[in-house]
Amino acid sequence: MRNRYLPSLLPHEHVLSVLARWFDVSGRNDFLNTVRAVSNNVNSLSPMAVWRPVYWDLSRQFIETLGWENVIGQHTLFPYYAPFLRQLDRNLLLSGDESLASIRIKPVQQNLIKHAQHWRWCQSCAEEDYEQYGTSYWHTYHQLPSALTCYRHNALLLFQCTRCGFKYSHFQRHWLPPIDGRCRECSEQISPASMEIPPFIHWLDTASYYLQQCGSKVENEPLIKAMREKLGYEMLPQHLSVPLRAEITQQQRDFEAWLPELVIRNFFNRSCDKLFDGTNQVLRLSAVAYRARIAPPVSVLMMLNYLELESVFDDLLA
Ligand SMILES: [Zn+2]
Ligand SMILES: [Zn+2]
Repeated sequence: MRNRYLPSLLPHEHVLSVLARWFDVSGRNDFLNTVRAVSNNVNSLSPMAVWRPVYWDLSRQFIETLGWENVIGQHTLFPYYAPFLRQLDRNLLLSGDESLASIRIKPVQQNLIKHAQHWRWCQSCAEEDYEQYGTSYWHTYHQLPSALTCYRHNALLLFQCTRCGFKYSHFQRHWLPPIDGRCRECSEQISPASMEIPPFIHWLDTASYYLQQCGSKVENEPLIKAMREKLGYEMLPQHLSVPLRAEITQQQRDFEAWLPELVIRNFFNRSCDKLFDGTNQVLRLSAVAYRARIAPPVSVLMMLNYLELESVFDDLLA
């Protein structure tokens, strides 16, 4: 049933953010008990999943005014993940089928992705949003794990208090980005790490932005095809001959050597050694290009950049 007190969604606001804003004006003191009036599926409210039952419950609140396509296209991270989801999940999300009321769709290997599990914000956006709407809120574009900067201000996104380590991974203690820039736990001024943005990270930021803007129309196949052409084989046999295996190992080593440590540190939760030790497939070229292994967007983007296939990607999104 439509809850007439629930606020409308703001531009590029993540659909879960509306719960935080609603609770903020409710004046109550128990987040979970308050928001259960809208959804019973509120135990996990990080931006990690592409889809959870709570998204369905919230979509019912906005479907009449916004329509399905707008809800998932502007207020969830679906467009960003769409090209890299299983076809089945992607079609289901595009369809708006009722089975989505009880389904969770989580991108692969999210535990390895540094910024997938907590909410991020931009201090300038928080201030401007407060000026314009009387509240800060969580933007979808700030939650793209392969982007480090704000789509409006180019400033590095914030995610953690450097003094007490506080992060927003749920809304039970604190629920909205601070307007005064201070940690809600310890009052420390939260400032971005000072860092030169190398061109590669800048490209990742831009690519992530375009994915969120029109990824629901993009298919993965042309990217995989272009990667295979560049790597030199259309297919790989099930059993690799010794020389072929050596060549593929060398290609992988070259890729690993090319990936800057700064990039790994900013996008993954593991060190280079752990990521490349053979148990993780997350940055394995052959697994993604030939074994249909679904990889997180950040991995595929890194591979495309390494293989100098940025233009293939740009053309797809154009
Ligand atoms: Zn901003
Ligand atoms: Zn703090």
